[in-house]
Amino acid sequence: MTETLDCDLLVVGGGINGAAIARDGAGRGLRVVLCEQDDLAAYTSSCSTKLIHGGLRYLEFGQVAMVRKALKERQVLLDMAPHLVRPLRLLLIHDASMRPAWMIRTGLWLYDRLGGRTRLPASRPVGLRRHPAAAALREEFKIGFEFSDGWTDDARLVVTTALDAAQRGARIHTRMRVTQAVRSAGGWQATARGADGGGLQIRARALVNATGPWAAEFLHQAAGSDRGRRLRLVKGSHVVVRRRLEPDFALMLQAPDRRIAFAIPYERDFTLLGTTEVEFGDDPRQARIEPAEIDYLCALANRYLKVPVGREDIAWSFSGVRPLLDDGARASAVTRGPEPRSYVPSTGTHALTFFRFSKITLRSTARSRTTGNFDNGSSLIGCSRWSMSAEQAILALPLISMAQEPHTSSRQFES
Ligand SMILES: Cc1cc2nc3c(=O)[nH]c(=O)nc-3n(C[C@H](O)[C@H](O)[C@H](O)COP(=O)(O)OP(=O)(O)OC[C@H]3O[C@@H](n4cnc5c(N)ncnc54)[C@H](O)[C@@H]3O)c2cc1C
Repeated sequence: MTETLDCDLLVVGGGINGAAIARDGAGRGLRVVLCEQDDLAAYTSSCSTKLIHGGLRYLEFGQVAMVRKALKERQVLLDMAPHLVRPLRLLLIHDASMRPAWMIRTGLWLYDRLGGRTRLPASRPVGLRRHPAAAALREEFKIGFEFSDGWTDDARLVVTTALDAAQRGARIHTRMRVTQAVRSAGGWQATARGADGGGLQIRARALVNATGPWAAEFLHQAAGSDRGRRLRLVKGSHVVVRRRLEPDFALMLQAPDRRIAFAIPYERDFTLLGTTEVEFGDDPRQARIEPAEIDYLCALANRYLKVPVGREDIAWSFSGVRPLLDDGARASAVTRGPEPRSYVPSTGTHALTFFRFSKITLRSTARSRTTGNFDNGSSLIGCSRWSMSAEQAILALPLISMAQEPHTSSRQFES
């Protein structure tokens, strides 16, 4: 059966961006419909490192404004969802072959201050001989730096955000793929096909393309545009190994190629290691870890850990795909460079395309708090109501009771 819907805003994609935009729109009184082709957070938004952070490493590239913004968003999330986002203390182990100590100290000094007031403890240099995290570390490391960020169950954050959007009046349709979107006089006419054979005909005043790694495909195939920028897909994988860390500290690991990865206490009995960065040319649904990525992550962890990890320690793994602007750079080079170069909105068909957000963020909420406006999207999507009741969007996320089991969908289990 095909249902016909009329709305102000059609959001395509049920990852964190789609869910947050739907919630924001519904909070402002817009009639919102969100369509997700599979399940909420089925892909990238459940396969991240799950950090709510400002992006310390980007200070090295002079991206001060971007880090400031991300730190402010970190605080918004800590405030609005303290039941979903918890403070995380990280230990950056100093290794003389890597960045000099003065540079790290300066960077952390700035990182503590850029985001304004926070209840998170400030950074500090620490000796590792008596440090509580030291039991897990190889003995050659003598000093390190503690600093604070946040951590979340990414999939749960998406689901809670979507549920809150629904409570504010948004219609959330999962297993509903938008197959066509045609510009019409009053906005957009879209067709969506359900996995159960049903469908939707949606008339929307505005459309947001929040399809993540499918953003270009959606523009080309569903919206029929050839004007969007080209995207490259980069896969990042994580492995989950039997617990190697004390529960109170995560490690920031510096690879010999100057990439940064993390070892994070995970689901009480495990440690999460990630991530890699590999060019990816396939369907994002097919993203799986490769043997070379496993070896890379184990070798990196073993530079630091007293009890080495090997393939036999891997409980499960998961891979996510991020879209980057195709500017000819290699994946690893892109990630060492400034992030905004990789994430810009494409507005070729006057649909607002969101792959700008490199982070788990309810960025619209942070922005609306300061400007009452939604980036430059308000003019593009032509919704005068967009700037109404911005305070709605920063209301706390609800407490929703869900099972405490480790989230396992879209994971690849190792035997
Ligand atoms: C390996 C890795 C680690 C990361 N770690 C972190 C981190 O620690 N902290 C952080 O802040 N950020 C991190 N990120 C970035 C963060 O995960 C992403 O920015 C974020 O998840 C992107 O969300 P999204 O909603 O744009 O995309 P997605 O989560 O990919 O959602 C897009 C959705 O659109 C749906 N879709 C596609 N086409 C259609 C269609 N035609 N109709 C309907 N639905 C459709 C898809 O099914 C999908 O669910 C990481 C990213 C990666 C890859």
